[in-house]
Amino acid sequence: MPELPEVETVRRGLDDLIIDKVVAQVSFTHAKQFPNDPQAVKNFLIGARVRATGRRGKVLFIHLDNDYSLVIHLKMTGQLVYIDDSARWGGGHPSDSLVQSLPDKSTHVTITFRDGSRLYYNDQRRFGWIKLYSDPEIQSIPLIAGMGPEPLSKLTTAEDVMQRIRRKKNSGIKATLLDQSVIAGIGNIYADESLWAAGIHPERRVFTLKDAELKTLHKEIVQVLRLSLDKGGSTDKNYVNARGQRGSYIDFARVFRREGAPCKRCKNEIIKIRVAGRGTHICAVCQPMSGTKRVRKGRG
Ligand SMILES: [Zn+2]
Repeated sequence: MPELPEVETVRRGLDDLIIDKVVAQVSFTHAKQFPNDPQAVKNFLIGARVRATGRRGKVLFIHLDNDYSLVIHLKMTGQLVYIDDSARWGGGHPSDSLVQSLPDKSTHVTITFRDGSRLYYNDQRRFGWIKLYSDPEIQSIPLIAGMGPEPLSKLTTAEDVMQRIRRKKNSGIKATLLDQSVIAGIGNIYADESLWAAGIHPERRVFTLKDAELKTLHKEIVQVLRLSLDKGGSTDKNYVNARGQRGSYIDFARVFRREGAPCKRCKNEIIKIRVAGRGTHICAVCQPMSGTKRVRKGRG
């Protein structure tokens, strides 16, 4: 699943492409991918002009000029492809649909704009969806209402994030980071990367973490997300950005998908374990369960 940097990269790309476009027509294959009342689509989507794009956690928004918005969740294999006379850009899961003629069998929603350009929503596994909401409704969608703060927002303080983590005192720290109600937008890649950077074992229970460790963890989360955004997201699941360029974050990953390779800090071998039901990459030396990495023993 794309995480915050990948979804934000798609949003930025879309923002350059579809602002001010007027929706002329929409077609879809399954109500699961486009669960909308036909009358609402007719009244509030057709003829509406794209005003802005947005994102909350891993969820994308296309805001219209009539106080309605399309809410888009790409989930595992969702992909958006924009095509006009002179350009073709895609973002999300990089199946062949990014380059072959559309619609194809993975195309589940097609939005045609008045100028003839099109936005295709392709989704091989069909977990994702696009839903029309009035703007006041958006904040009460359970997915959005229950979401924790945006880690890169200037309004989100370290103290706020630490407090929210602390509430999960008996949970493992990795499971806590993956919990979108604690902090928005972090998935498997950035959880592993930030825990390695902070020297914290992913299975440690929250109550065992010192304030200094949580503070470091928060700092590393912000840094790793910023770095990935700078690199256009990761190539995990081969996500590409809205211009069809591959993100390069994974080239900078320190533990993720590096099992068997030497730790970039201590040269110990990176191992893959299972935590919170997810494949998890750690350096057992830098991230001990005891949390005493920085305590020097003997004459060291
Ligand atoms: Zn190490």
